[in-house]
Amino acid sequence: MSIKVINEKCTGCKLCVKSCPFGAIEIVNKKAVIDMHKCTLCGACIESCKFDAIVLTKISPTDIQFPKKFDEHKDVWIFCEQKKGVVQSVAYELLGKGRELADTLGVDLCGVLLGENIKQEAQKIIHRGADKVYLVDSSALRHYQDEPYSKVLIQLIKEYNPEIVLCGASSIGRSLIARVAIGVHAGLTADCTALDIDKKERLLLQTRPAFGGNIMATIICPNHRPQMSTVRHKVMKEAGEDKHRKGKIIEKSYDAGIYSSRTRLLDVVEEIEETVNLTEANVIVSGGRGLVSPENFKMIEDLAKALGGAVGASRAAVDSGWKTYSHQVGQTGKTVCPKIYIACGISGQIQHLVGMQSSEIIVAINKDPHAPIFTVATYGIIGDIFEVVPELTRRFKEALGK
Ligand SMILES: Cc1cc2nc3c(=O)[nH]c(=O)nc-3n(C[C@H](O)[C@H](O)[C@H](O)COP(=O)(O)OP(=O)(O)OC[C@H]3O[C@@H](n4cnc5c(N)ncnc54)[C@H](O)[C@@H]3O)c2cc1C
Repeated sequence: MSIKVINEKCTGCKLCVKSCPFGAIEIVNKKAVIDMHKCTLCGACIESCKFDAIVLTKISPTDIQFPKKFDEHKDVWIFCEQKKGVVQSVAYELLGKGRELADTLGVDLCGVLLGENIKQEAQKIIHRGADKVYLVDSSALRHYQDEPYSKVLIQLIKEYNPEIVLCGASSIGRSLIARVAIGVHAGLTADCTALDIDKKERLLLQTRPAFGGNIMATIICPNHRPQMSTVRHKVMKEAGEDKHRKGKIIEKSYDAGIYSSRTRLLDVVEEIEETVNLTEANVIVSGGRGLVSPENFKMIEDLAKALGGAVGASRAAVDSGWKTYSHQVGQTGKTVCPKIYIACGISGQIQHLVGMQSSEIIVAINKDPHAPIFTVATYGIIGDIFEVVPELTRRFKEALGK
């Protein structure tokens, strides 16, 4: 949608100016003029206008202007998230896809690395396919904090004008990149599952599930640069490593002001996991509302432990406070693709399925034979989890000699 003023009807009465909550309208030569940078299409001005002089208009794809004057923007950038000084694997996944995109566009692939004493990690980013790494090394960047990180990344983008900026859709990535997109006046497509290039228009084709995963939407960003997307962990394949690969590390330093923050980091407390990390696990055993109470998660943990796997949960279980959010699998939780996913007492609503349906083998245990989880299950066990799960644990322990 867009909005326009019909000049023949506009009397310059200023009612729309007063009604606009965003200060987006002014009267120029007795006609209302809408600043599209400020307008949110809220429609308040349309309601206030007594002369029907402001209308919403539909934009058809053929109306989209491609102002293709982005010559000063080039290169594909990957924000390489690090924790405790180690680059996270989602960055390597993005470097794999980023390499393809950069080659198609004929530009450089660049990593952006912020942290403290992390130069050796910059080298690893080059080994994984980057031509350049922008490195900002400061004690203020040791741990992630919204304001210093976003200010530094915004500064780098303004200085070097990348064409595309990609970031993992992790908790850090999501928090950071939304701020950065606002700061550089760019759009952002979150949680992409596929990325490609329209070479003719030099557009990034950003595909992501929409409407609860029922359709796949491909989103373009023709009018602003950089084009920015987040991609979930484990959706793309990691770039291979070539230890002989050479690249350039560009070290940047900034005045102390850029690192200022209105929040103060007091401590970083790690969640103590007795089982392995969910997104890295080869086996995941997940529990849902069918478990009835938090104590019963013990039986899920026992099975996960017997298989050397991680524990997942449906949102119903997380919302009930039985497991922390970091265990949630699904649309608003984590996307996982383990070798084996065992769903216990989970009905299989679409929002859960979008987070686990690409697992290699899915085992569903549910007492309801019509539960939707069986539509994606490789093996379905119709039965009571309180009988089936302990029995499976016993048998696996026996078989694995534990
Ligand atoms: C915008 C949005 C985002 C969402 N995001 C997510 C998300 O990220 N992840 C997610 O999981 N959900 C998400 N949901 C919620 C989702 O729609 C479901 O409500 C949720 O997944 C249901 O969880 P559940 O399967 O554990 O519970 P239920 O749907 O209540 O299913 C419980 C199942 O347990 C079975 N059962 C009960 N007792 C036993 C027993 N003794 N033995 C065997 N089986 C038994 C029942 O037959 C039933 O099938 C989202 C919803 C919305 C609207």
